[in-house]
Amino acid sequence: MVPNISQGNLRKLPSVGALATEARGLDETLSERLCVIVARREIDQIRSSIDSGRDIPSFDHLVSNVAMKARLISHSSPRPVINATGVIVHTNLGRAPLSERALRAAYNASVGYSDLEFDLESGNRGARSDHLKEIVRDLTGAEGVFVVNNNAGAILLVLCALANEGEVLVSRSESVEIGGSFRIPDILMRSGAVLRDVGTTNRTRITDYASAVSEKTSLILKVHRSNFRIVGFTSMPDLREIVAVASKASVPLVNDLGSGSLIDSREYGLRYEPMVQDSVNDGSSITTFSGDKLLGGPQAGLIIGDARLIDQIAANPLARTLRPDKMTLAALHATLTHYIDGDASNTIPVWRMISMELSEVEARAESLLSCLPEGVKGSVCSGASTVGGGALPGETIRTALVRLDHKSISSMDLVRQLRSFESPVVARIEDEAVILDPRTVLDNQMPRLRDVLASL
Ligand SMILES: *Cc1c(COP(=O)(O)O)cnc(C)c1O
Repeated sequence: MVPNISQGNLRKLPSVGALATEARGLDETLSERLCVIVARREIDQIRSSIDSGRDIPSFDHLVSNVAMKARLISHSSPRPVINATGVIVHTNLGRAPLSERALRAAYNASVGYSDLEFDLESGNRGARSDHLKEIVRDLTGAEGVFVVNNNAGAILLVLCALANEGEVLVSRSESVEIGGSFRIPDILMRSGAVLRDVGTTNRTRITDYASAVSEKTSLILKVHRSNFRIVGFTSMPDLREIVAVASKASVPLVNDLGSGSLIDSREYGLRYEPMVQDSVNDGSSITTFSGDKLLGGPQAGLIIGDARLIDQIAANPLARTLRPDKMTLAALHATLTHYIDGDASNTIPVWRMISMELSEVEARAESLLSCLPEGVKGSVCSGASTVGGGALPGETIRTALVRLDHKSISSMDLVRQLRSFESPVVARIEDEAVILDPRTVLDNQMPRLRDVLASL
């Protein structure tokens, strides 16, 4: 072997065991095994960097590196964060926070066995979605329900089960991209159906639907414009009129609502967000919506409507690939009970935030302001929260904001620092200042947020 400089260097590498033991000395909560795994990886990395001529870092540096990397792995993940962005249904922050009751239901259904697919009365096999049948009927009037993992999956499944490789009529103004490259034309193609555009981008008339119907038509799809608005010279027929065209042609009308609100958003001074009950009432054969947008529950896709069509959807082979977990079903069911009890606007976090009075947000903002240390200047100013997450685009709710000006660090550094706490705080920068919106902070997080601000 040809000797080279790094041969001598390699001998100076600490042993995996010594490194692991010292790292664990820094943090006893870390397991021995984890520290060994991370220490081995660290040594391997250094070994390969020595080959490219780099020096060995000091032992202390290696020890703290190993402890830090081991902590990152053992931290619970995804980690809880404090949402001070003012965006209520924040997709990147996990959309809807769950109610206490929904959380408890998920816990109870999964800490032991459950009657997930078991009929306790007959002792026979049951169906997952049956847990929701009665409550969904009482809340919406729909005869049948089938639950999948998310609403994108719901649309794909419905199209695969009902479009039968025929033509699906979609208004040009609704042939949209939902986000994360989920596009209606693409998903239609995947299902084997053929997209038939109806009307124009800004105006679609009922006669456009009527004249597009042919013997090849297998269904009419309506998609809620949940993440954009078109304004100006526009028109779109009423849902009832489109239902009439579908029923004359004997094809189902599938209405994708997206956010799927069960509460009238106008009660809180917002524009009307299409409600699930109205879709069923107006005669949609099938209505689809998310569980974790304005419903305020866990991630899920709900497919509700005519019992015969629901059976057809449940029987499709794709249905099994999209089935939800017991935790999801239990949390979803518990979330729906808040609506039956009539206390959803207080108990479901998303609706508690939407309905929070300005005076309450102001009081919260003042209480945050009073915790700021000497080095940080703060003020309360008025601003806007948004619903977000593909609901009520462009709509805002008046709110009270806390504006922070740090004497010695920049706003960029300050938002970064806020994210680095044990309870990370996610804030935004507006007009070069750090802005906190207390509306989207959960009640039980307010004390922690005050602690964080006090330690800035
Ligand atoms: C959000 C949304 C979807 C996708 O729902 P996910 O639950 O995110 O899969 C589909 N259609 C519309 C209209 C939406 O707003």
